[in-house]
Amino acid sequence: MTLGRAAVTGASSGIGAATAVRLAAEGFDVVLGARRADKLAEVARACGPSARAVELDVTDDASVDAFCAQAGDCRVLVNNAGGALGLDPVAGADLDLWQRMWDVNVLGTVRMLRALLPALVASGNGHVVNVGSIAGIEPYVGGAGYNAVKAGVHSLSEVLRKETVDQPVRVSEVLPGLVETEFSLVRFGGDADRAAATYAGMTPLTADDVADVIAFVVTRPPHVNLASTLLLPTDQASVGVVHRR
Ligand code: NAP
Repeated sequence: MTLGRAAVTGASSGIGAATAVRLAAEGFDVVLGARRADKLAEVARACGPSARAVELDVTDDASVDAFCAQAGDCRVLVNNAGGALGLDPVAGADLDLWQRMWDVNVLGTVRMLRALLPALVASGNGHVVNVGSIAGIEPYVGGAGYNAVKAGVHSLSEVLRKETVDQPVRVSEVLPGLVETEFSLVRFGGDADRAAATYAGMTPLTADDVADVIAFVVTRPPHVNLASTLLLPTDQASVGVVHRR
């Protein structure tokens, strides 16, 4: 018997890929979504025969509709697709980057929720896990664009939990600190040295560490909701307080 169907967005790399693999191992039928079909198919193979890879761009209405038509009667939705672009001061803000961050992190999450919430509720034991960030609750110099969108994810998680309290769906947010994935490579436009410097001299979380927590969150009994989980590497006390050797 399976634990039901779980849709994971941004499952082609990092936290999303690790979460899909971990949820499949826990007994979920996973549906993986992201834009890079080749990488997605590779991760789906690692999940096992019941996993399905479906191309998904969360910034595109038609793509979300097509994905959700295939995802069908989901019980769990992990809204993980997202990321940061740039690290510029507000005075030098690149509005195109800010717009793209808003589109994927906030509107992408809302699009997926609007489309799949009816199925999650109909399952009788639905669960939404939004992947937020410490950046959404602790703004930092250069991070305003990303801080704003992850604060948006935090707000909508809090609001959705209140709006659905009388329905059979849990709303949880997992907020990681530093996790070594493709995140910094994407943020710095492919600059591998700059990306590596983010984690220099400290031990960051791995994608598997975050997947472990998401798996724990979605396998609690139905009356238990880990509403908000801040997950940090031991070397990180806050965004700016990081112990580097
Ligand atoms: P990652 O390795 O860059 O993964 C990002 C994932 O999002 C990729 O699978 C990417 O796939 C997908 N994605 C991006 N744009 C998309 C779109 N328009 N439609 C569908 N999928 C899209 O980074 P990660 O660290 O695993 O990030 C996962 C989440 O964790 C993000 O929301 C990020 O903000 C959050 N987070 C990360 C950290 C960290 O330190 N790494 C800390 C806190 C929170 P495609 O490119 O194939 O579409």
